[in-house]
Amino acid sequence: MKVLFATSEMAPWVKTGGLGDVSGALPAALRSIGHDVRVLVPAYPALLQAFPGATEIARPHWLGGLLPTPSLRQALTPDGTPLLLLDYGHYYDRPGNPYLGPEGRDWLDNHLRFGLLSRVAAWLGSEASTLNWMPDIIHCNDWQTGMAPAYLAYRAERPAKSLLTVHNLAFQGLFDHASLFELGLPDAAWSMHGVEYHGYLSFLKAGLQHATAISTVSPTYAREIQTDAEGMGLAGLLRHRASDLTGILNGIDTRDWDPLRDRHLPRHYGPRRIDDKAINKARLQEEVGLEVRADLPLLAVVSRLTEQKGLDLFLAIAQKTIDLPAQIVVLGSGAHALEHGWSAFAHRHPGRCAVRIGFDEGFAHRIEAGADIFVMPSRFEPCGLNQMYSLRYGTPPVVRATGGLADTVIDAADERHGNGFVFGPPTAEALLDALRRAVAAFRDPVLWRKLQKHGMARDSSWAESAGHYIALYKKLLD
Ligand code: ADP
Repeated sequence: MKVLFATSEMAPWVKTGGLGDVSGALPAALRSIGHDVRVLVPAYPALLQAFPGATEIARPHWLGGLLPTPSLRQALTPDGTPLLLLDYGHYYDRPGNPYLGPEGRDWLDNHLRFGLLSRVAAWLGSEASTLNWMPDIIHCNDWQTGMAPAYLAYRAERPAKSLLTVHNLAFQGLFDHASLFELGLPDAAWSMHGVEYHGYLSFLKAGLQHATAISTVSPTYAREIQTDAEGMGLAGLLRHRASDLTGILNGIDTRDWDPLRDRHLPRHYGPRRIDDKAINKARLQEEVGLEVRADLPLLAVVSRLTEQKGLDLFLAIAQKTIDLPAQIVVLGSGAHALEHGWSAFAHRHPGRCAVRIGFDEGFAHRIEAGADIFVMPSRFEPCGLNQMYSLRYGTPPVVRATGGLADTVIDAADERHGNGFVFGPPTAEALLDALRRAVAAFRDPVLWRKLQKHGMARDSSWAESAGHYIALYKKLLD
């Protein structure tokens, strides 16, 4: 099958979260099964630098509205995945985060930047394309490419089928009415059954409405988003499309995230050499200025600091946590109040709590390896990757029973399979209870080793999920 994977981020070059990780790993996994998957991604500075020899292969024009004529450049990743880099000078050639300007606010022309990305994805999946490669399926991801299925529906001759994967329903790509014209969409699209959403134009809704099929990144999240409580205003539409909606759990990049050969670690270790994890812990404590103590459980967070991730709940009981006693290390960035709250807490408790505001891939790896317990009290979590990294790194996670966390972490109460700690209500008290249970288990070396081994034995590779995507693609083409 020929698949165009359209995405707005791709690890290791451009990543703000799970979408970047998935885009960096899934296309290669699909290719290794024998399918012809190519990735369409904006030519951000990091990609232009990584692929200076990328040659122009097409200039899609007459795209409609105010959309400009971009250039498509071709490159090949080191693992052999063909890239189509969408280049239009100042649209994507901007430093830093792909969505936000220097002040932390959305770029004002995001509808055009990601409208162009969606439009070109649809162009590639239609007879208008001048390439001699025609995909059977356009695999779109989140709102940034959510408009592609709408373009296929309204503007394409003999369109390819489309799949929209929702990595996070909270980001919906909302813009005002004027953008309908700027994006070159017909007036008829402005309806409840089109791209309109409560007086706005929504990229995500457009995709949910028009994609041939919809998937999301865990079976539990696929069920949750059909409920009014967790459907973020789109539950009705998702229920309406329930027969076209599936949940496929993400895998992780098991080459990047392997404690036996992780290039970021001071000492490698694995299921048969878990003791060497202690060296990583001591080095991590040194690195961040915590007391170097093997006996204190070291709890860790690597996350966007937002309400979604429940890190306000953790902050509310941070004092009680370090009194257990325990240590805390946090790496993240996001909401100002959380950045400030956590930094202030660490300032008051040197030796017990260390906080780094920022995004640091290598440090994230050293935390996974050095910490004893990983904390993810998310209010909602479509899939979540860090709990899977934690399982693989022998760092049992404490998670709330939601979305992909519920699908990957098994509570220690299950003696035969338990690999972490799961709690229900999104409250600080329930989190503290779970942390207490985790710390008590940490003090029982036999039990702890068993939990670590169960986690490390879990297969989180992409192989199985890639197989599910192939089955889904086949269903679309039937
Ligand atoms: P989301 O996509 O909602 O942010 P995921 O758990 O799916 O959450 O993916 C987050 C990814 O981003 C993981 O690979 C995680 O390690 C990484 N990450 C998040 N924050 C940071 C940070 N501050 N520094 C380094 N990596 C981070």
